[in-house]
Amino acid sequence: MAPFRRLALIGIGLIGSSLARVARRAGLADEIVCSSRREETREKALALGIVDHAFASAADAARGADLVLFCTPVGTYADLSAEIAPVLEPGAILSDVGSVKQAVVRDIGPNVPDGVHFIPGHPIAGTEHSGPESGFAELFQGRWCILTPPPGADADAIARLRAFWEAAGSEVVEMDPAHHDKVLAITSHLPHLIAYTIVGTATDLEESLRSEVIKYSAGGFRDFTRIAASDPVMWRDIFLDNREAVLEMLGRFSEDLAYLQRAIRWGEGDKLHELFTRTRAIRRGIIEARQA
Ligand code: NAP
Repeated sequence: MAPFRRLALIGIGLIGSSLARVARRAGLADEIVCSSRREETREKALALGIVDHAFASAADAARGADLVLFCTPVGTYADLSAEIAPVLEPGAILSDVGSVKQAVVRDIGPNVPDGVHFIPGHPIAGTEHSGPESGFAELFQGRWCILTPPPGADADAIARLRAFWEAAGSEVVEMDPAHHDKVLAITSHLPHLIAYTIVGTATDLEESLRSEVIKYSAGGFRDFTRIAASDPVMWRDIFLDNREAVLEMLGRFSEDLAYLQRAIRWGEGDKLHELFTRTRAIRRGIIEARQA
C-alpha cells in the first residue's frame, strides 16, 4: 500500500494511539499528527514518540491530511466534523473508529464537503483502558474492522482505507450501518450493559456482602468488573446513539431472563441444561474463529 501523506488522528486515546503506533511501525503514513483537547494528552503522545505533531485544534491536525480518522467518543463527532470541514482537501478520506455507525453517518454526513470521501469504520478491537499510554501496535492484529461506506462511495478510496486496516493487521468487511448497529448491540453493547448492571448491583449491596464480593470475585464477578471498567463517556455515548438496537436486544434478553427465572423457580433442570449446552458450543465457535 502506498503510504498516506499525512494521517490525522482526531483523538489519541487507546484506539488513536494504537493506530499511530501501527501506522508508524508499518510505514502507513509519511507524517502522523493528532489533536487532543487536553495538553496532558498531547504531551504524552509526543513523549511516546508516536506522532510528529500534536495540536489542540482538530482543524490544525486535519489541515493538509489525506486520511483523517475520528478517534474520540462518538458524541463529539458532529461538532468536530463541522470544525474540520473548511480545511478538508478534495480527495481526502474521512473516517472514524466509532462503535456505532448510523449515528456517525447522521452526525458527520451533513458536514462532509464535496470531493471528500467519507467512509465510516469500526475496528472490533479494544480493551477497558484509555489514553495514549494504553495503546499498542498489535491491538488490531487478527481482529475484524467493519467499514460502512455510503452508497456510491468512491471505490478507490474504499480500497485505500481497506488496505490501511489490512496493513494494521485487521480483516476488513463491509456492512450496512443499520446492520452493524444491530450486530454490535448484541455482541458488545448489551454485554457491557449487563456488566455495568451486575457491578452496580454489587456496589449497592450492604457493606458486609460487598467486601465478600471483592474477596471472592474470581468466581465470575471479576470478568464483569473488567468490562464495567470501560470508559464512562464512551459508553454513555454508545447507548444514547444506538438506543433502538440496544432496546430491542434488551427486550429479547429480558424475555430470556424471565424464562430462566421461571425454570429455576419450578426446578426445570432440563431447560437450564439444554440452554447451557447450547451456549457452551458458542464459546467453542469463538475459539475456533480465533476471536477468543
Ligand atoms: P480514549 O482512550 O478515552 O481516548 C479518547 C480521546 O478522545 C482522547 O484523545 C480525548 O482527549 C479525546 N476526547 C474525549 N472527549 C473529547 C471531547 N469532548 N472533545 C474532543 N476530544 C475529546 O478513547 P478510546 O477507547 O480510544 O475510544 C475512542 C473511540 O473509539 C470511541 O468513539 C469508541 O467508540 C471507539 N472504539 C473504542 C473501543 C475500545 O474498546 N475502547 C473499541 C472500538 C472502538 P483528551 O485526553 O485530551 O481529553
